[in-house]
Amino acid sequence: MLKQMETAGLTDLHFGLDPASGLRAIIAIHSTARGAAIGGCRFLHYPREQDAVTDAMRLARGMSYKAALAGLPHGGGKAVVIEPEGDYDRTALMQAFGRFVDELGGRYITAMDSGSEVSDMDIIETTTRFVSCTSASGDPSPHTALGVFEGIKAAVRHRLERDSLAGLSISIQGLGHVGHALAAMLHDAGARLIVADINPTRVQQCIEQFGARAVPADEIYDAEVDVFSPCGLGAILNADTIPRLKCAIVAGSANNQLAVDEDGNRLRAHGILYAPDYVINAGGLIHVALHHARIDGARRDAKIREIGSTLTHLFNEADRKNQSVHHVADLHAESLLQAAAASNAEQERRHA
Ligand code: NAD
Repeated sequence: MLKQMETAGLTDLHFGLDPASGLRAIIAIHSTARGAAIGGCRFLHYPREQDAVTDAMRLARGMSYKAALAGLPHGGGKAVVIEPEGDYDRTALMQAFGRFVDELGGRYITAMDSGSEVSDMDIIETTTRFVSCTSASGDPSPHTALGVFEGIKAAVRHRLERDSLAGLSISIQGLGHVGHALAAMLHDAGARLIVADINPTRVQQCIEQFGARAVPADEIYDAEVDVFSPCGLGAILNADTIPRLKCAIVAGSANNQLAVDEDGNRLRAHGILYAPDYVINAGGLIHVALHHARIDGARRDAKIREIGSTLTHLFNEADRKNQSVHHVADLHAESLLQAAAASNAEQERRHA
């Protein structure tokens, strides 16, 4: 287990058990060098307990990178609450999880993730203040969409040397909370949309509202477009799909778009500019983190818009170093975390 923690780069791993409610939970903390670790809480069935531990461990580092490149005073963590078999009292379970989070005294701030809902965050808030994504903060998706919109503009400026999206063709895979809000912004900016979703109602909405052209879900990779925006599933950029792409840019909200790290290099080899997912999709995290810090509105939106300039910086650095953007982003995030750790150590030394 310690070896696995070392590989995942974690500082600490916590297990919470509450037999009365059936709580079996894991909190993995990757870094608190820049501030309290923030990250979602998965609430899913796991066939094997070890899979739940592995899930929390493998996802914590990504949250540190995301928070660091978003310029937030937070580190990264991830929690898993294993959904009990059979009947259970969800309220009691979430309250027990809140107490578990609270015992960490603010080292970790929890948030929504696969399987958990805003209503769960509201329950958790009754037992800890270290929770975000409550109903008071609202749906993060429109803020994620704003960040992706700014990211697409930055990528278009860099690769196509255009300041406007008017007349560009942009394909969107997945028209859910983020995809639909993004489609609205792109349509307002004058882009032509090609869309796909496995849910026909969502596709129809985009046809009617934005004059989008629909293609079958598995044909979205073949669309000839300026920008492909994956806003549905993870691992969709892989050895099978990348050779099919006929776009200059890939920039979308989906988490973990690269099936394996090598796919970032594969995109580059195909001449495609890739906006790393955890950089471009940080708008929702920025929203919930700033809401937690009681900062909203114009200051939040300005911070989300910085995603565009962060990406421009990474694109330029990748060009200069002749490297893939995802690799440059990881290195940049690591250096921010190391700088924070060094500065903390220096302060501790001074106060010793
Ligand atoms: P969502 O569940 O609301 O929407 C996902 C959409 O993808 C659905 O409409 C679904 O039908 C569609 N879809 C599923 N399989 C598909 C397929 N094979 N082809 C085409 N479409 C398919 O999710 P969301 O909140 O809009 O998030 C979208 C992505 O962005 C996810 O990967 C999510 O993890 C990521 N993300 C979301 C946020 C946020 O604020 N919501 C923040 C960061 C990252």
